Amino acid sequence: MTTMESRAARLMEQADILAGYSESRNELTRAYLTPQHRAAHDQLAVWMQQAGLETWQDSAGNQWGRKVAADPTLPVLILGSHSDTVINAGRYDGNLGVLLAIETLALLRDETFPFHIDVVAFADEEGTRFDTTLIGSAAVAGCFKPEWLDVADAQGITMAQAMRDFGLDPALAGSDARQPEETLAYLEVHIEQGPVLEAENLPVGVVTGIAGAKRFQCQLRGEAGHAGTVPVNYRHDALCGAAEMISCIEAFARQHEIVATVGKCEVMPGAVNVIPDDVRFTIDIRSLSQSQLERCTQVLFSRLENIAHQRQLQLDYENIYQAPAVLCDEKLQQLWASAVETVTRKPPHFLPSGAGHDALAMAELTDVGMLFVRCEKGISHHPAEQVLTEDVQVALDCLVTMVKGFAPGAGQ
Ligand SMILES: [Zn+2]
Repeated sequence: MTTMESRAARLMEQADILAGYSESRNELTRAYLTPQHRAAHDQLAVWMQQAGLETWQDSAGNQWGRKVAADPTLPVLILGSHSDTVINAGRYDGNLGVLLAIETLALLRDETFPFHIDVVAFADEEGTRFDTTLIGSAAVAGCFKPEWLDVADAQGITMAQAMRDFGLDPALAGSDARQPEETLAYLEVHIEQGPVLEAENLPVGVVTGIAGAKRFQCQLRGEAGHAGTVPVNYRHDALCGAAEMISCIEAFARQHEIVATVGKCEVMPGAVNVIPDDVRFTIDIRSLSQSQLERCTQVLFSRLENIAHQRQLQLDYENIYQAPAVLCDEKLQQLWASAVETVTRKPPHFLPSGAGHDALAMAELTDVGMLFVRCEKGISHHPAEQVLTEDVQVALDCLVTMVKGFAPGAGQ
């Protein structure tokens, strides 16, 4: 076994150990500011120390490890991902990126760099416990919002209280945010959570950016009536209108190379013999191009309004969420690409991320660069999430190559 092979095998074992820190025995759930968060971070700190890193916890409960450069005034390259999970999660989402970063610095233990290298395990990316995501990375990037402290979890415990219970001072949350001038870049390796790399038969791919997203809550109102007595031509069936709209959304997404999804749909009154008069549904629209996202949203809603008009239905919609598109730094993409080419001896494959990541928040602070690792059938946020040890080995080799090839200024 080569060093890389045995390191990758060890990393897979570490992922299994981490998966044991869960709120329930039969499935993996690890939310922010819970005893499992504490236990997982204590374990990560041990592995960080074994890799020769100096460790600490920050004001938001993120776990850090630093490969210290000789001169304390030197800037910092940050590697990492998140350690929290969704409910009934897989064991590689986020956690794989943290373990790869630690292992990379273990492999580079005897090398010196003209900058500090930090590994971070962000304590909240998924937003499983509180109604907001990216809490850990937002605190580091300087965009932690104090109003989040008042948000309560399902048990009615506010984030402020949960922080106190965890041993943190909520008044200090985000106070130790990093400064742009002391930060060189943020690099993250993450599972793809999609089927593209598997279809391309590639272990890893270079991420071009994270798609921007908009979510809407829509309500379509018509007229209820007796399913037997109202002739079809006299009806204002809200569900038939919604069905036409959903087909329109799918066709529109296909034509305009965006993704758009109706993931939730409620039909009222919801009786077998009543014409539906009220349908509520959500739309999630994403694109890597922010201008394309804005344009498409506008055109799509004018088409939906047309459908409503023709059917004499009333369409109302509200924008309930939006996240801007974030592009990965061009030079970091090229650096990843040459690392991938060196390691795999194949031309690098570039792909966008449809899912949000910590890099979204970290882009507020510094240049970001991401590498995706193939996952089986693209399944994620599910216990069936799976990666190959060989792919983990390739990803590790790529991250080591990337860090070795990184020069201050390359990401600027
Ligand atoms: Zn993730």
